[in-house]
Formats: sequence, C-alpha cells, structure tokens
Amino acid sequence: MTRLAQRIARIKPSATLEITAKAAALKASGINVISLSAGEPDFDTPENIKLAAIEALKAGFTKYTPVGGIDELKEAIIGKLKGDNNLSYEKKEILVSCGAKHSLYNLSQVLFDRGDEVIIPAPYWVSYPEQVELADATPVTVMTREEDGFKLTPELFKKSITLKTKALILNSPSNPTGSAYSKEELAALADIALEKGIYIVSDEIYEKIAYDGFCHTSIAALGNEIKKQTIVVNGVSKAYSMTGWRIGYAAGPADIISAMSTIQGQATSNPTSIAQKATIEALNGPQSELARMVVEFQKRRDYVVKRLNAMEGISCYNPQGAFYVFPNLSRYYGYYTPGTTPQLINNSTTMTGYLLEEAKVAVVPGIAFGADEFVRLSFATSLENITAAMDRMESALAKLKPGS
Ligand SMILES: *Cc1c(COP(=O)(O)O)cnc(C)c1O
Repeated sequence: MTRLAQRIARIKPSATLEITAKAAALKASGINVISLSAGEPDFDTPENIKLAAIEALKAGFTKYTPVGGIDELKEAIIGKLKGDNNLSYEKKEILVSCGAKHSLYNLSQVLFDRGDEVIIPAPYWVSYPEQVELADATPVTVMTREEDGFKLTPELFKKSITLKTKALILNSPSNPTGSAYSKEELAALADIALEKGIYIVSDEIYEKIAYDGFCHTSIAALGNEIKKQTIVVNGVSKAYSMTGWRIGYAAGPADIISAMSTIQGQATSNPTSIAQKATIEALNGPQSELARMVVEFQKRRDYVVKRLNAMEGISCYNPQGAFYVFPNLSRYYGYYTPGTTPQLINNSTTMTGYLLEEAKVAVVPGIAFGADEFVRLSFATSLENITAAMDRMESALAKLKPGS
C-alpha cells in the first residue's frame, strides 16, 4: 500500500478532468466532438515573440538565470505596470515565475498559515481554493449574485470578514464569468480591506482581453496604502497566446516578493531562460496582434451571448472580459434525457455529461467553479465551431423532457 502524505487527500481532483477525458475518448473513437472547454486562446503566439526566443536560443541563452528572472525582463514588467496600470515598482518588488499559477502558488505558501481565512468570491477560478488548502489555510468561498454581475459587493465582503481573515482573492476580468470590476467598485472593496488590514491578491491575467472599451483598473493603483497591501499577479499566457511558455509574474511589497523568491529558489529556480527573452519582446514589442485577437474575441462573444440568450429558459451574463461565457442552465434541472432509459439532469455535472453525449459538445460544469447552476463555455475557438456547437446545444436542450 502506497502511503501518500495527508496533504494530497485534502485536494480535490479537478472536476473538469472527467469531461475532458470523456471528450478525448469520444474524439479518439472518431466522433466529431466540438470542445468549448479550452482555457487558452486558440491563436498562435505572434511571430515577433517566437523570433525573440529563437534568437535567444541561437545566442546560447540556455543556462540558469537569476531565480526571480533577468533584470531586463523585470524592467520590461516595471515598464508595463507603469504604462498600463500607472503603478510604480522597483526590481526587488517583482518576481517572475513559471506562469501566473506558479506566482499564485508561491504567494499562498508565503502568506497563508493554518487558521488563516482567505475570501474567494464564487464563481472562482478552480485553483484558488486548492492552493489555499495546500498552504493549510481555509478558503472561504462567498457566492456572488448574477444580478450584481457576479461581483463581490462591499456588504458581502464585510459579512465574510472574521478576525481570521488574511486576504481576499480578486480576479478581474474573471474566469469563468467574464465579469470585471469598475474603478469605483474596487475603491469600495479597497476601503474595507484597508480598514480591516486584509491583503488583496489581484489576479489580472485577463486585463488585456476586454470588450466594449472596458478599461481595466488595478486595485493597487487606487492609492499608496492599498498598494502596500496588494500583490498584483499577471502574465503573458492569455494576452499573448503564450500558455505553453510558462511565464507569469507578481508585483508587491519587497518582503513578500523576497519570501516568494526563496520558495521558488528551492522549488523550481528560474522560469525558462528563452521564454523570459520572448516575454520581453511580448511586453516591449508591437501590440497589434493582441488588438486583432480582441476584435475577433469580441465578435465571438457577441454571437455566443446572443445565441444562448435566445435559447428557451437560458440566461447568459454578457462578459466584459476574458473568453468565457457562464450561462445558467438550471431551468433544465429536474428534466429527463430522451430515449428508452431516461436519465435525470439534476446538476451541472449531469448536464455537461448529457451535452457531451447528445450534442457532442464539451463544456465545463459550473460546480468546478463553485456554481452548480451554470456551465462554462469557452469561445477561444473558431466562429464556425461556435455556430455548430450552439445549433447542437439548442436542439439537445429542446429534447429534454420535464419530469411528471
Ligand atoms: C489561465 C489563468 C491563470 C494562469 O495562467 P498561467 O498560464 O499560469 O500564467 C491564472 N488565473 C486565471 C484566472 C486564469 O484563467
């Protein structure tokens, strides 16, 4: 008998895995499955960024670098934070890691202890509660309302705070809902965080993917006091279609960044050398590809939101950012599948299972994000795929029968 550490028993396996495995098995058996489950842009990494990596490779830039990233990259990140977010940092306040997920992991490890509570507004990104658990702390998930744009209100924030509250994790624009906080909404949360001495972890990975001219604000930019209590996490995965390159970064108080660097130095050392060079080009080079990608995403968002809202009994929030929609399908819970052995659809898992089997469309159950009434669809795929998926989904839902 293998004797695993207790830690692993506390961590939930990803609820997305089941659907992903099923979709893969169907695809392998030659069935035409459309996947709307991707968590990454479908575009290729822009050519200028690839060339920067190739040049670095040819120049032999293939050895260890400083643990927290090379100075030239830290300077590019400092320039980005100043230019985009009006935030001023020094090099000792920046740490480059192997993806924003790694930045968040390092941060949990240095900030959270057993007994600490960390407020996570739901629907949330799947890794937040698990990373908090891995640090032995307690995730406190707080359900937001669709009527509030899936945003944490000041009232809800206040109600969730106890003497043990250490931090709030904010993600704007959000995966999975696409909701994004205005400057005023952030200011109201910042006031409470300041009054109660609560850290803010601000995951801004989708800031560049925003629609209808939505202008992203970093909560850290709202004043020097809140900046001292905030750790900004960002990266190049989503904005520059660089998910496989594994570069993310954190910006925050020097003592926190230094502790994160110590953890990273004993776990992974530096992020990949040539990916660091590519990231400098991503941040400092032309931004035209990014603009093209956002235009394309907006077309798809407009289409998919319109289609979903036109379906019987479905409501779908119109996202301001990211590349997901999060429609509410709970109206069909209590319905039965067609056929000789009707199955009850009673939650997001049975719903996504049905959509996969009947419509051959793979989507992620909302339960994975803490919201069982919903499913997550990614529109990081061609408009052609999205159109076919909407047609199939609409007819599959129409076949469901109410229980009698
Ligand atoms: C994709 C994603 C990340 C992490 O991206 P990396 O590839 O690790 O940089 C972090 N937060 C959210 C909400 C994401 O969707």
